[in-house]
Amino acid sequence: MPHRTTFIAGDENMSDFKRIYADNAATTQCSVAAIRAMTPYFYESYGNPSSLHSYGQEAANALAQAREIIAQAIGGQPQEVFFTASGTESDNQAIISAARFGARKNKRHIISSAIEHHAVLHTLDALEKEGWEITLLPVDEYGLITPEQVKNAIREDTALVSVMLANNEIGTIQPIGEIAAICRESGVICHTDAVQAMGHIPVNAADLGIDMLSLSGHKIHGPKGAGVLWCRRGIPLTSIIHGGAQERGKRAGTENIPAIVGTAVALEEAVTHCDSNASFVRELRDLLIDGLSEIPASRLNGHPTKRLPGNTSFCFEGVEGESMLLLLDQNGICASSGSACTSGSLEPSHVLLALGLPHEIAHGSLRLSLSADNTREEIDHIIKVLPPIIQRLRDMSPLWRK
Ligand code: PLP
Repeated sequence: MPHRTTFIAGDENMSDFKRIYADNAATTQCSVAAIRAMTPYFYESYGNPSSLHSYGQEAANALAQAREIIAQAIGGQPQEVFFTASGTESDNQAIISAARFGARKNKRHIISSAIEHHAVLHTLDALEKEGWEITLLPVDEYGLITPEQVKNAIREDTALVSVMLANNEIGTIQPIGEIAAICRESGVICHTDAVQAMGHIPVNAADLGIDMLSLSGHKIHGPKGAGVLWCRRGIPLTSIIHGGAQERGKRAGTENIPAIVGTAVALEEAVTHCDSNASFVRELRDLLIDGLSEIPASRLNGHPTKRLPGNTSFCFEGVEGESMLLLLDQNGICASSGSACTSGSLEPSHVLLALGLPHEIAHGSLRLSLSADNTREEIDHIIKVLPPIIQRLRDMSPLWRK
């Protein structure tokens, strides 16, 4: 189990206050078990798994063992597991592979949803520029798409359906099993981005009936720099990184053994403790949702029940997300907003806009994503600190006063 410095109950003095980390959808703390498992591969068994000597073979054995652990956690076979450098790369390779495979049979149409991560949406943009036709299914007010929407959108020339298992901003969980069944009936490849879902809710590729699945080590208390693409046997993968013959010729580049080992250990831990962690985190989340719902002119984003155990996403009218984040940070609370402000455009999140929210409301979004390391005291503290911050920002806002 991961361990972290936590809030000291009853301590009102901010100088003694330990920071509250409520941004686990962005990244998680690496678990102690993952760090311990990784460490020998930096300085003892640091060989290259492609080398024939004993150092190399130690690394190759670690790689094989990690592949087995991950295959078992996903519900697949070791030879169906491919290591990449990130969830983003796994999404890219899954989509590009299915697209190239489809093109061989003149299938150049791909279906996805309007609220996918940019790792999916921007890959689809690139394919569209190359001549593929992309259908992005709209979502309802909770961020859900229905299997019927997928059924109706499938055409003769559809090569791929790619729908995320759970959304990173609003936590909504999609009916992937039913979507995969429709794809199977129609002979269409089904990929799911399970980066936010894996380890947090039960996910089994065989039960879901999907063909491809992406996951990322750093979202499950593993290290950054390791992604996994699970690809059902029979679906040909296309290399998007060219070079050596690693990963059976499908992903060139010397394998990041420490990160792969750490990801396997973290995933095994996450899957083993999934139910108990989820029920604990869900309880904290519901307390947080109840507390924040008391704030006037607030709106819970995402589905009330079909949502990730740790996801809390709200919009507060008359408030600007980034200002809220800065004031929360000054109070030791680390959260995130739905706004994609990295480009400097301050455009609200495409996910919140897809729910039908007007720009001015989507701008006031706050995501607090919890893990099993959070405590009841931390939730109480957030519920106490946030309302005066919102009030202060509203008092300064000419729009709100109007
Ligand atoms: N897909 C989803 C749903 C995500 O939330 C993220 C990361 O936030 C990614 C893909 C990309 O994963 P990575 O950060 O490992 O590239």
